[in-house]
Amino acid sequence: MTVTAHPALDALAARLGGRLIRRGDERWDSARAPWNRAVEQRPIAVATPADVAELQAVLAAARADGVQLAVQPAGHGASRDLEGAVLVRTTAFDTLSVDTDARTARLGAGVPWGRVLGALEGTGLVAMAGSSPVVTATAFTLSGGHSWFARSFGFASSSLRAVELLTADGRHRWVRDADEPELMWAMRGAGGAFGVVTAIEIDLHAAPALTGGRLVFAASDAAAVLRAVVEAGRVAPQALGLHASVVRIPDIEQAPPELRGTTIVTAEAVELGASAEVAAVLDRIRAAGAVIADTIGPLDVARLGTVADEPTDPMPGFGWSTLARLDDAALDRLLTAWDSPEGRPVMGLSLRVLGGALAAEPARPGIAGAVQEPHLVSGHAIGVPEAAEGVRHAFAALRAALGTAASDRTFCTFLQPGDPYSAAYARTGVVRAARVKATIDPEDRFLGNRDLV
Ligand SMILES: Cc1cc2nc3c(=O)[nH]c(=O)nc-3n(C[C@H](O)[C@H](O)[C@H](O)COP(=O)(O)OP(=O)(O)OC[C@H]3O[C@@H](n4cnc5c(N)ncnc54)[C@H](O)[C@@H]3O)c2cc1C
Repeated sequence: MTVTAHPALDALAARLGGRLIRRGDERWDSARAPWNRAVEQRPIAVATPADVAELQAVLAAARADGVQLAVQPAGHGASRDLEGAVLVRTTAFDTLSVDTDARTARLGAGVPWGRVLGALEGTGLVAMAGSSPVVTATAFTLSGGHSWFARSFGFASSSLRAVELLTADGRHRWVRDADEPELMWAMRGAGGAFGVVTAIEIDLHAAPALTGGRLVFAASDAAAVLRAVVEAGRVAPQALGLHASVVRIPDIEQAPPELRGTTIVTAEAVELGASAEVAAVLDRIRAAGAVIADTIGPLDVARLGTVADEPTDPMPGFGWSTLARLDDAALDRLLTAWDSPEGRPVMGLSLRVLGGALAAEPARPGIAGAVQEPHLVSGHAIGVPEAAEGVRHAFAALRAALGTAASDRTFCTFLQPGDPYSAAYARTGVVRAARVKATIDPEDRFLGNRDLV
């Protein structure tokens, strides 16, 4: 079937060939699918422009046809159906350059964190990468981004120096604080709907040594290990990034045979350094249970993306999260709810220790500002859309179990489909970002993955 109601896009199809895919093309379903397969996307076309000139042509066609553009490098954060919009993939924007003297890097908008980390091997520098190597550095940073190094340097967006941006008026330029401070403020956390970012420039940070890995415990140690991680977070130096999780490994082919049907408890640690103080903190976590596996040791920056051992292939998933202030009683209630019949649809629970630089105002101003809660709690479920109802109830049970230990907010990068920015940021900040959007994109040409108003 040919789309005929969009003459400018029709004309563009002749120029872009296979880089503009529409319904009826045999590649349609794979082209429009996001990484999170639980989200069904129905755009009118999927464009993968080869360069800025083609991107400008896609924008011009969208304006002429009166449709919106939605940028999505990979779709881990896919959140809406994109009905009536053109989906733009930034895959071709894949340049990557590192300036070790200036401690900066320029990354094309399609570059995943794994490639950035690979390029930093041997430099003694790290970037503000999160736990997954396949998440796109630009998308992550524009949404705040919680890195292993957040306790040292705050959100990833605080290390965002400049943005190369195509705006609705067709202009393509580098945006910096000195010229457009209000736009940069908004891009540091709510950056998905002001235009198409084609590259970013970021700070790199010195890491003369890097230590990291994972401790694995048996299910029976869950409560003790989570308590030990919370306690470690109270005393650990800022240089330590610390996560923990409890996961019911499903009895499915994709899971390692020896783990299928079991529950594992893990603590993941990454230290910017190799100090005796952190080693002592980690020893106290080890002592919380019987350690089944221990991979903590010197870590090459290129292997940072393997520490959390997260899935890299697309899959359908549901999530829930909240910033929290945990104590032993709240942890026990959370685990009890997760273990109850109501909580069973939730496959995994995770805990991230916050604090440090995250609790201070960021070095560079941004909507992703200081976070006072010391923990982030999240739940994950693998699921097809039909499972959504049961999973929603299970997440609600977890939230109820936390009671006043939970907040009404979470990280922007952990928001779920349908959640607005106000579920991550203060209302005043969201209103301010909406003003920036109204100024720079008055026709609302760009459709982000969530709403500002
Ligand atoms: C396994 C896994 C691990 C994760 N780990 C972490 C973690 O450690 N810390 C953390 O903070 N988050 C984490 N996340 C969340 C992740 O950061 C978000 O999903 C984020 O949206 C990036 O995903 P993506 O690269 O697929 O971007 P997409 O989902 O493709 O894009 C997200 C949105 O960003 C905007 N955007 C992206 N690129 C551009 C561009 N070039 N121009 C303008 N707007 C753009 C658009 O609004 C787009 O809808 C994780 C997610 C998964 C699935």
